[in-house]
Amino acid sequence: MTNYKIALLAGDGIGPEVMKEAVKVLELVQQRNDVTFELMPALFGASAYFDCGNPFPDETIAICDQADAILKGTIGLSHEESKNIPIELQPERGALLPLRKRYNTYANFRPVYLPKELIHFSPLKPEIIGDGIDIIMVRELVGGLYFGHKEMGITDEGLRYVHETLEYDEDQIRRVLHEAFKLAMLRKKVLHNIHKSNVLKSSVLWNEVLEEVAVEYPEVEVLHQLVDSAATQLCLNPAQFDVMVMENMFGDILSDQAGGILGSLGLMPSACIGPDKAYYEPSHGSAPDIAGQNIANPYSMIGSVAMMLENSFDMKEEANNVWNAMKGVFGDGFSTPDLSKPDSGVTMISTDAFGDKVVEKLRNMPRVSQ
Ligand code: NAD
Repeated sequence: MTNYKIALLAGDGIGPEVMKEAVKVLELVQQRNDVTFELMPALFGASAYFDCGNPFPDETIAICDQADAILKGTIGLSHEESKNIPIELQPERGALLPLRKRYNTYANFRPVYLPKELIHFSPLKPEIIGDGIDIIMVRELVGGLYFGHKEMGITDEGLRYVHETLEYDEDQIRRVLHEAFKLAMLRKKVLHNIHKSNVLKSSVLWNEVLEEVAVEYPEVEVLHQLVDSAATQLCLNPAQFDVMVMENMFGDILSDQAGGILGSLGLMPSACIGPDKAYYEPSHGSAPDIAGQNIANPYSMIGSVAMMLENSFDMKEEANNVWNAMKGVFGDGFSTPDLSKPDSGVTMISTDAFGDKVVEKLRNMPRVSQ
């Protein structure tokens, strides 16, 4: 029997609500398989700051260090509430970016997936969405503007100024590009490289490195697209994309847009992979507007569990069962309110009812020998 230690960082807002559903799934997965999960909850984000004055406390770091994988919920406060925390200790700056930096999770995989049976969730017209959407966005996660030198001050003329620099070296670019090319090799062998080389020198270097890396993957067709154009094309013709690779901030923005074309950010799980450790999180934030109402969609969180099972624990078949269980719940005509439009025939259910239905479906699936 293999034992895996999982750090659980439920976080803020809807984080604890969706994490509860993820834990239900994990508990069933361990009953069905030859594994045990040692679940290690830890404070993270604004809730940690309000508890002990530190959004990424030492005890949480120790738990994450010991863990075989980290499952993170969501962090963050509303714009107004954020003002109750000093800027440097606000959840992203004080917890999320340090987490990414500590484990050097340079490759963020964000599936943008809506199979044919679920296309009614998308706001796109049927003639645009066609047979559905199946893209994986690969986002560089520990470089660029979010991690570059930052400075705020007053100029000699007495004006407030800010400097924020977009920094990459060639190794940082190369390693994430390799991940994207490897993924493209496993899929359609087409890679969309998203950049802004007409303006940004960082993109010029990115593209130079890409040309070098591409030589190692001669079967992969590389298609270049400017990020602004890619934003339009995602709405007009998402079927043209299969694997997309991009730097940190472009990925942050385009992947939220991707949630939009699916119908909800509640459909956006993700995996953040480093050389020694990975963590898994929904792509969305803490949704303060719906927190505490038991209406958040737990798909992104449970999908992140599926990505953890496959990537960190080598349990691909069981991961597929989890995906299929969630698809089955949607297929039976249920969804959380973010996806159920009036007169769509979809029955609205709560966060925990969705989780219960996923567990029920999974329980009825044949066990797999891992
Ligand atoms: P958000 O992603 O939290 O919410 C945007 C919209 O999507 C809201 O209307 C919300 O209700 C909806 N939504 C998001 N997830 C949903 C789900 N699972 N089910 C149903 N609806 C869902 O973005 P925001 O409102 O801009 O940010 C809120 C906070 O989250 C901010 O403090 C922000 O900094 C933080 N944030 C954290 C992360 C992270 O933890 N990685 C990512 C993005 C934003």
